[in-house]
Amino acid sequence: MPPILVRVLLLGIVGSALLSACSSGPDFVARREPWRAAEERACLASGMVHETAFVRTRASLGGPSACGAEQPFEMAAAYGGRVRLKPPALLRCPMIPQVDHWVREVIEPAARDVYGVPLAEITVIGSYACRPINNVSGGYLSEHGHANALDVSAFTLADGTRIAVKSGWRGDRRQRRFLKTVHDGACAEFTTVLGPDYNGYHHDHFHVDLARRGPHGMRTVCK
Ligand SMILES: [Zn+2]
Repeated sequence: MPPILVRVLLLGIVGSALLSACSSGPDFVARREPWRAAEERACLASGMVHETAFVRTRASLGGPSACGAEQPFEMAAAYGGRVRLKPPALLRCPMIPQVDHWVREVIEPAARDVYGVPLAEITVIGSYACRPINNVSGGYLSEHGHANALDVSAFTLADGTRIAVKSGWRGDRRQRRFLKTVHDGACAEFTTVLGPDYNGYHHDHFHVDLARRGPHGMRTVCK
């Protein structure tokens, strides 16, 4: 199959359209967003994220396309290595402390509170991907395209208990309580949190990201 031309519409100062062949995959529309690079550089300069045995630097992503990150990280575990991310997530700098905080302050305490067992593993079904929102051709570039989003589908406790979003969101009382706490707690850590109540695309996972919306970039979505 011949490579598909990816159309990148740069909406910004000049509002001009630019045709650019980058990789195969569905078409997307990318906004011109100078805050992204500035925010990433500020995060890197802050020293907030540094390389550990579980958080490793990776080569820049995206190349000449609208996708990517300058200095992404591969996050294989959170909470000082106590909780694995499987498979490891490829994320830009600002996402790392937020994911870590979500695990430490929300998910791990929820596991102990609801099940009396520590959290061991989080199942990751998406992080960096150069694609439109919901994979719908012609849509806006997803936050996943900027390594600014994470999709998680299940949580495994130290005793092997597995709580999946797909079966647990409307599952037994403990599953519902645990997942609701994890979902709602994410809303304090990220600017976007989407779960099964949002739409059919999210029936089996929680999507969290750090998109900026509104005039000051502060508008949040928690659904
Ligand atoms: Zn997602």
